[in-house]
Order: sequence, then C-alpha cells, then structure tokens
Amino acid sequence: MLQQTLVLIKPDGLKKSLTGNVLTRLSETKLDIVATKIVKVSRELAAEHYKELKDKPFFEDLLKYLMGEYHKKKVMALVYWGEDAIEKVRKICGATNPEEADAVSIRGAYGRITTKGVYENVIHASANMAEAEREIKLWFQPGEIIQDFYPVKAVKGTCEKKVWA
Ligand code: UDP
Ligand code: MG
Repeated sequence: MLQQTLVLIKPDGLKKSLTGNVLTRLSETKLDIVATKIVKVSRELAAEHYKELKDKPFFEDLLKYLMGEYHKKKVMALVYWGEDAIEKVRKICGATNPEEADAVSIRGAYGRITTKGVYENVIHASANMAEAEREIKLWFQPGEIIQDFYPVKAVKGTCEKKVWA
C-alpha cells in the first residue's frame, strides 16, 4: 500500500553529525523524499507532537529533548512516500528503547538512554497511517510537500507574511 510517513532526525542526531548516516540508512528503503526542512521546535510543537505521552513521568524531559535543550535547537523533518513506507522506515529505526533495538538499526547503533531515563534515540517515525496524517499536517503546510496526499482548501490571505526584501 502506498503510504507517507513523517521522519524527524532529533536534536541528538544533528548534534552528533548523524544526518548523513541516517539518510543513507533510510535510502535502503528506496522510498521517495517528498518534503524536508530544518525546524527550530517550540514547546507548543513538541507538546502537540508528543501529546499522547503527556501523562508520562518523562514528558517534560522529552519536550526539552525534542526542543534541543540538551543538544542543538533544531530538528530535520522529512516526509517519505512509497510502498509500505511506515513499516519500512520503522524497521530501519529499530525499537523505541535503544538498548533493546537491533544493533544494526539506527536506534540500536546510535541511541542511548540518559541518566534521567530518556531514550535519546536519534529518530522519530510515524507508527501508523492515522499518526502519519496527524504528524505530517502538524509539521508541514500543503505547499511544502511535492505530493498531494490530503485534501486542501484555499483561504483568502489576510495575515501578514515575510517576503524577500
Ligand atoms: N521515550 C522515552 N522513554 C520511554 C518511552 C519513550 O524516553 O519509556 C521517548 C523516546 O524518545 C521515544 C519517544 O519518547 O522515541 C516517543 O515514544 P513512543 O512510545 O511513541 O516511541 P516511538 O514511536 O518513538 O518508537
Ligand atoms: Mg510513537
């Protein structure tokens, strides 16, 4: 089944210069990259992204982790698209806990558990199609993706925006 999935290279991945390694591993899937950007993650975005974990004891540290407070204040966001994209990407990522992840998976090779107990596991990938839709719409605007997966609507532009001077 053709699917799209959100991938985030988390701040530890950027701080450790793992971007190239991660993208090389993901290229094994032969999926298409249809959107990408570097994002400085706000608290609001981090909290919305991980809202299902808001009652977990590690939630506050998880937000700080995604915002880059422990590494660099940036995340690389990508959308991958193709046959069974969700499962293919999750498999290369490996298990959530880097100590349990397959040693040759991205998380197994590069992840660690902090003394506070947060899994710094380098990469996020959507877990299912509903999550992918919610996350892609959270991180990207329609014009930033070169494929039309989801319906769009036109709205009259009334708000101010920055253009090149
Ligand atoms: N996480 C953590 N401790 C846990 C579970 C999760 O630090 O016991 C962090 C980890 O960075 C993980 C993220 O919270 O990637 C989201 O958790 P989720 O259960 O959604 O795992 P994922 O979908 O990323 O494999
Ligand atoms: Mg998850």
